[in-house]
Amino acid sequence: MENSYKNKNITELKGIKDVRANAFARLGVYTVNDLLSLCPIRYENRAVIKKINELQLHDEVSVVAYINSISKKSLRKNLTLYTVTVSDGTGTMQVAFFNQNYIERTFKKNYRYIFFGNIEKGFGGALVMQNPIFETAEDLNKIEEFAKLQPIYPLTNGLTQKTIRSAVKEALLLAKKHGDCQKNQNRELPSEITNQFNLLSKSAAEEAIHFPESVVEAEDARRRLAFDELLELQMMLFNMKRNCEQNSLSGISFGRVDIKELTDTLPFELTDSQKEVWLDIEKDMESQKIMNRLVIGDVGSGKTIVAVTAMFKAIRNGYQAVYMAPTEILAEQHFANIKKYLEPLGITVGILTGSLTAKNKRETKEKIAGGEIDCIIGTQALIQDGVEFFKPGIVITDEQHRFGVRQRAMLSDKSTMPDILVMTATPIPRTLALILYGDMDISSIKALPSGRLPIKTYLANSDMHYRVYTWVRKLVEQGQQAYIVHPMIENDSETEDTGVVSATENYLTLSGTAFKGISTALLHGKMKASEKDDIMRRFASGDIKVLFSTTVIEVGVDVSNATVMVIENAERFGLAQLHQLRGRVGRGKLQSHCILITDSKSELAKKRMKVMTSGCNGFAISEKDLELRGPGEFFGTAQHGIPAFKVANLYEDIPILKDAQKAAALIAENAAKKEYKSYMDYISTKMVDLIQL
Ligand code: ADP
Ligand code: MG
Repeated sequence: MENSYKNKNITELKGIKDVRANAFARLGVYTVNDLLSLCPIRYENRAVIKKINELQLHDEVSVVAYINSISKKSLRKNLTLYTVTVSDGTGTMQVAFFNQNYIERTFKKNYRYIFFGNIEKGFGGALVMQNPIFETAEDLNKIEEFAKLQPIYPLTNGLTQKTIRSAVKEALLLAKKHGDCQKNQNRELPSEITNQFNLLSKSAAEEAIHFPESVVEAEDARRRLAFDELLELQMMLFNMKRNCEQNSLSGISFGRVDIKELTDTLPFELTDSQKEVWLDIEKDMESQKIMNRLVIGDVGSGKTIVAVTAMFKAIRNGYQAVYMAPTEILAEQHFANIKKYLEPLGITVGILTGSLTAKNKRETKEKIAGGEIDCIIGTQALIQDGVEFFKPGIVITDEQHRFGVRQRAMLSDKSTMPDILVMTATPIPRTLALILYGDMDISSIKALPSGRLPIKTYLANSDMHYRVYTWVRKLVEQGQQAYIVHPMIENDSETEDTGVVSATENYLTLSGTAFKGISTALLHGKMKASEKDDIMRRFASGDIKVLFSTTVIEVGVDVSNATVMVIENAERFGLAQLHQLRGRVGRGKLQSHCILITDSKSELAKKRMKVMTSGCNGFAISEKDLELRGPGEFFGTAQHGIPAFKVANLYEDIPILKDAQKAAALIAENAAKKEYKSYMDYISTKMVDLIQL
């Protein structure tokens, strides 16, 4: 009730009819609340008023002056210059308008106007204000109204700054009218917090973000709103962590197991990095508290065996271990791998994916419920699909970035909790890690197993196709295998997306030319799981030599004899994604190569390709990626289950994030106090929203 005005459709505001509403919809603005949350991209500072004799080149200022004369000059066809000469007692200035035929009718001689614009050099070297915005300045109120910071919003066809501004003003009036009677105040932070962190009040910030009195006030308003967004997320992570800790009685304290029984069977020794991370995990597992740990390790750093070791420990303690992969292909591949490690030790390993026959699925589920299967591998649908476990001790999720805050919130909501271990190859920049995984403990596998040669990466353009593929053929004839990766399965004639080489097209063409007589295959996400599995198996066994694919091979696929990767239209992929893809090669002892093919001339694309060939490690690449693309696109906020931020910018607002984290800790400490109750209630409703999203 108290909030109802916020959900009102904007068509209920004065002056907004269907056409404008449609334009607003293109900006994602449907309700009054959306409108109030529309954040200006910048402000036009009209508040600086200068006298004409104070003007300097490149000033962006307001000037109040009287009209002396207006002249018109045709510079060439379709280009008319109107020069308005104005004076203010300290000097005269020329104001230039191009092709604005209404000018002659608009200005009245000897009347006063206020102009806002840029000061440039005119023909004779004198200072000229070009194409300014202006308003009559006959009375002081008009001047005051005009000479303010003006918000500049993102625009779309059919909207002007003026329309948006007046709609926002209407919305703010409405908000004020309802402000007094709303119980909505609980969004306000306890005054202890607003004082300590020097924050504007929420309602003041909501108004000042649109119409600030000064630059400082605009900055304060933005800071307050960004602070709230970041704080809310921190609070939710905090709640999740606390939920887990409060349930610590039901956490499992696993007994010591000699892992030599497992590691002695490996063809390699664990690296020091792997051993360190294992010690963290072992300690967590043996303690009463529920493990909630994230393992970050670059592609190829050997996370799988660390996960297997943890599962081994849980299973030897009489519990079940669950391993969740993001895709079916990966689940199947891990199943094959993990079976090799565990079955010789007398452990039963089972797989549960969507592509099993109904009968097979039912039988497997029964065996899981009956405790006949010790180690269960499957896709994430597994836990979300009502599987009953006999005695779950540990849940491992691979590629955490597809397992968002929301899913973790769902898990932490359960009363009894197995230990949780999440693995990610996406080397998340620290700032993002703090936000996304603020509720978790973090370990990282810092070094790759020794003896790996860095992958050599080259750039090529499509003119070099023939040379590239002849060279790939030569390597294949020497016994190596290759991935050819594409941004699309097929060319879509409707979008007229020219210049994109699709997987299907390339597969059909090259199989009969460059790779004639060599066994090739096509792999993409629209194929049946059984087909994909079959092709992956044949590629892993060396039966298929060249695999044409889309990004389905992005995560986790592990075929160490594959040493060449060609990526078509490389500009279409994100840096983190290119790094993931490239990580499919360089897994064995042979030198591996990656060729990025692109014809893009864009500066940004060139910068990004340069990052890829500069020998950066995964962390440097992901920092760059975040910088060049922004966090929203970094891996898709929706996929993450994290709310998208309207104001906060994860790359620039690190200082605000740090404050928000401190504030979250303080609030959690004081949560029991009366003044904190309404804010805590507010966060609880947000948690419920998040889980039910
Ligand atoms: P990721 O961290 O990308 O999941 P994997 O666990 O798939 O990496 O390991 C990559 C490859 O490295 C696998 O073939 C694995 O057998 C091998 N490997 C793992 N640990 C070691 C090690 N300590 N020494 C040598 N090779 C290892
Ligand atoms: Mg892996």
